[in-house]
Amino acid sequence: QFEQSRLLNSLPDQFFAALSKKVIEYAAMGHDMINLGQGNPDQPTPDHIVASLKAAANRPDFHKYPPFQGQVFLKEAAAEFYKREYNVDLDPHTEIAVLFGGKAGLVELPMCLMNAGDYMLVPDPGYPDYWSGAAMAGAAMDYMPLVEENNFLPDYEEIGEERLERAKLLLLNYPNNPTGAQATRYFFDETVQLAEKHNICVVHDFAYGGIGFDRQKPPSFLQSKGAKEIGVELYTLSKTYNMAGWRVAFLAGNKSVISAINLLQDHLYVSLFSAVQQAAATALTGPQNCVRELSDTYERRRDALVKACQAIGWNVKAPAGSFFAWLPVPKPYTSVEFSDLLLEKAHVVTAPGIGFGAYGEGYVRVGLLTEENRLEEAIKRIGKLGLFID
Ligand code: PLP
Repeated sequence: QFEQSRLLNSLPDQFFAALSKKVIEYAAMGHDMINLGQGNPDQPTPDHIVASLKAAANRPDFHKYPPFQGQVFLKEAAAEFYKREYNVDLDPHTEIAVLFGGKAGLVELPMCLMNAGDYMLVPDPGYPDYWSGAAMAGAAMDYMPLVEENNFLPDYEEIGEERLERAKLLLLNYPNNPTGAQATRYFFDETVQLAEKHNICVVHDFAYGGIGFDRQKPPSFLQSKGAKEIGVELYTLSKTYNMAGWRVAFLAGNKSVISAINLLQDHLYVSLFSAVQQAAATALTGPQNCVRELSDTYERRRDALVKACQAIGWNVKAPAGSFFAWLPVPKPYTSVEFSDLLLEKAHVVTAPGIGFGAYGEGYVRVGLLTEENRLEEAIKRIGKLGLFID
């Protein structure tokens, strides 16, 4: 009945919505679908975190409005977490902001920092919410290709001085969704130098910071000297602590960015339920063996997946972190055709790479979010299609 606003019309299409519809149709026909297309963690939140929420929910003082800029105890817990995990010093009052989930933070950041027409460097392929943030701010996106030959890191030399000089914001994400690549400390050091030179604000999305394989702990961007002078890091509890449904994350680093996002959030929400903030503090400062166990689980699944792929002649690379594998599409298919074929003929759902950007073409993304036997079964079914025999 009512027309949508121009702002809403300017938002990018939800590419994966059409795929979800098709998955529902196939499942309704009675097929046993193996859905590897989504990024929803399959395991429950650890018990001690749930217990912390339950206890906190009984506190009448937590039933009131929370403080506008989040509970100080959660910001202190986040600072303690950064010191313990990465030896990074952060002032909980000025260098940490509580977020209503990482997704909201990613959409809010460009709204805080960009004017219409300002340029934002974003990875391609990349997490589609970066585009939503740019659209909300009316910012222009400048895509940085992530290619396998460069370990899925942007090549700053190729981007060149002119584009770097023009950019106001640079978005990075390691461990990477969708490629599963990890960054090095050296790469982040180089990024800091470049951002200083060109006066760019760096936003590092560290959503998968807790998930690194082969004993390689993913480095934090804030470990690089000078990082918090030119950037921020976003940390969500969704993946590391299996808390995707709780909607809690935080931003750490540059004071001016933290105060800007606090200001915007004052206008949008008060803050999260204090009991959720208490449970998040428990997650960050309580026992951490759940994090290692989670990472080990994904690593076992990754190994099972890679082995199963090799067995059918699918030449895939093992991801170094995150809970995704980025698998090459065989000729002559496009990523959408291949993904459709797998859905229709093998009842296996994958996310076509093109949904993450033009450089995602030639790949499908597979989530390690189901048991090993289901992953193996999925690849076995794909093997039966006989697509990988030369
Ligand atoms: N960043 C990346 C790369 C993600 O994949 C996700 C979730 O899928 C997020 C951020 C946001 O996570 P959340 O909104 O659950 O904090």
